[in-house]
Amino acid sequence: RTVYVNGEYVAENDAKISVFDRGFLMADGVYEVTSVIDGKILDFEGHVLRLERSLAELGMPMPMPADDLLAIHRELVSLNAVDEGAVYLQITRGAPADRDFAFPPEGTPQTVVLFTQSKPGLAGDAAASKGIKVISIPDIRWGRRDIKTVQLLYPSMGKMMAKAAGVDDAWMVEDGMVTEGTSNNAYIVRGNTIITRHLGNEILSGITRAAVLRFAREAQMTVEERSFSIEEAQTADEAFITSATTFVMPVTEIDGVQIGSGSPGPLALRLREIYVDESRKAAV
Ligand code: PMP
Repeated sequence: RTVYVNGEYVAENDAKISVFDRGFLMADGVYEVTSVIDGKILDFEGHVLRLERSLAELGMPMPMPADDLLAIHRELVSLNAVDEGAVYLQITRGAPADRDFAFPPEGTPQTVVLFTQSKPGLAGDAAASKGIKVISIPDIRWGRRDIKTVQLLYPSMGKMMAKAAGVDDAWMVEDGMVTEGTSNNAYIVRGNTIITRHLGNEILSGITRAAVLRFAREAQMTVEERSFSIEEAQTADEAFITSATTFVMPVTEIDGVQIGSGSPGPLALRLREIYVDESRKAAV
């Protein structure tokens, strides 16, 4: 695989980052993951806008114009012949001369890394026709989950807790209400109404979430942006998650309780189809 590191395209084994990089030492960095279908980037604009916001919230500049970032995405997809998969992008506050809690002086070059991941079958229905099962776990992450930082230890632990419980993922709960999945936004469906937590510092504003809510409204579904509990979710007609890499993925079980019929719900599957079709058409 060819990867991008600080202005250069290099073989992954030749890529180098300083041991003093603040991404490595302090999780002082932000990231984006953008899906690829038919060798094209999905919703680049949404991802780059969120990236700019994440950087701004942490007092970091954009290291280069958005167009240049898009060009790197495209070049890597082409160099690595990715048909279906993802592009991972990470920007850190760079590598000061020594480890220090204080931010490095202004002008310290940021670290910019991008790489691709091939995932044949990504846009297909194999995984979605089965759906996933989740458990609930307490949400003990920090208070600025709206910033897409590389501080992913607790979500990783959550995935491992899910694995240990024999399921696929975990929904996190704070003050009795679901915040989001470990790496996705969480939804339930009652009748024709789609319910998902309102935006705020407590969750990441998903790019897929924004698109799916728009498609849901266009398809005459009702959207309620409010928090819900695990108990409410367990009595819902359907449940699902969204993320850039899973699109819309039905949830069939929460904490051992079957949701609806126990099979992927019709609204979730319909939204997935609309999302994949529309994203494919708009991909760049
Ligand atoms: N919430 C969290 C915590 C996430 O890590 C992700 C995936 N990056 C999402 C939500 C979904 O965001 P998106 O649709 O932009 O991938």
